[in-house]
Amino acid sequence: MNLSIETLPESQRKQKPEGKSLSFGSLFSDHMFTMEYDKGTGWHDPKIIPYQNFSFDPAAMVFHYGQAIFEGLKAYRGEDNAIYLFRPKDNLARMNVSAARICMPTFDVDEMFEYLQTLLRTEVDWVPNAKGASLYIRPTMIATEAGLGVRPAKKYLFFIILTPVGAYYPEGFNPVKIFVTDKYVRSVPGGVGTAKTAGNYAASIMAAVEAQQQGFTQVLWLDAVHRKYIEEVGTMNIFFVIGDEIITPPLGGSILAGITRDSVIQLLKDWGRKVVERPITIDEVFAAGATGNLREVFGTGTAAVISPVGSLHYKNDDCLVNGGTTGEIAQQLFTALQDIQYGRQPESHGWVVKL
Ligand SMILES: *Cc1c(COP(=O)(O)O)cnc(C)c1O
Repeated sequence: MNLSIETLPESQRKQKPEGKSLSFGSLFSDHMFTMEYDKGTGWHDPKIIPYQNFSFDPAAMVFHYGQAIFEGLKAYRGEDNAIYLFRPKDNLARMNVSAARICMPTFDVDEMFEYLQTLLRTEVDWVPNAKGASLYIRPTMIATEAGLGVRPAKKYLFFIILTPVGAYYPEGFNPVKIFVTDKYVRSVPGGVGTAKTAGNYAASIMAAVEAQQQGFTQVLWLDAVHRKYIEEVGTMNIFFVIGDEIITPPLGGSILAGITRDSVIQLLKDWGRKVVERPITIDEVFAAGATGNLREVFGTGTAAVISPVGSLHYKNDDCLVNGGTTGEIAQQLFTALQDIQYGRQPESHGWVVKL
């Protein structure tokens, strides 16, 4: 398809923020990508246009039945001033998995990646160069057909917006306090937990708000059926270091297949560490905490890369992890992944794409 490009004159472009003043997802770059879908025609009219509002019919199906999916990835500016992407096609491929799950149309990953790269070249000055900063990329797809019948929509909009983000840990790692909820669940077997849908996030907000009101940073989710197997933490996958084993819950149908999760498993294997994907209960974690075998707990996701967990609160019990400080493995993984993402270290997995 022919990509049309309409750019703003220099004089109408926004002021770029200082590296330190970047707060997550509040300022967007000058341009965006859009592409439309009509049943019968398929995807058409890929465009790069100035960042602007959309106009939709109030009956647009996304507002009523929630056919909305998204992705999140980052562009990093290396010390050589080149721009690097980390496993970008994996994000686009996962978006197709999400799309298929809620009966939205899929797209050609290679073609979409070309559009994304063109958008990034247009906005290359928006990739910050402050330490730990990056340009966050948010591909999104929504149902735009007007109508209140409950069925897959016949029209969709795909768009990509970009927002510069500062370092997640400007003052070094800060282990988080986690609230283990046995009241709410994120996802159920047979549900949409494996898809990055907007609705999953809407469903998770109340648990997060209640945890924050009680002084915790994030929620740890248990499985919906037994309320004992650990699934994820907040919007991240989770790892436990117990003795010499590194454990993460398996992708059994209610967990999101994180790209950071997969990369961490690969790196740990490369380093000869014993990493296993197996079900793990909250009771096993607390028991390991009581005997001193619980060495580390950390979350993995694009935003934070690695998020060390300092303590867990479950029912009326507290479990301190590694004295509330960041563990060695979390620190090693964070450094290794950042070095790869910013193009500072070569890697053998074909994960990094230079723009
Ligand atoms: C996006 C997301 C993750 C992390 O995935 P990454 O690809 O590592 O960024 C984990 N859990 C949920 C629920 C998510 O939405």
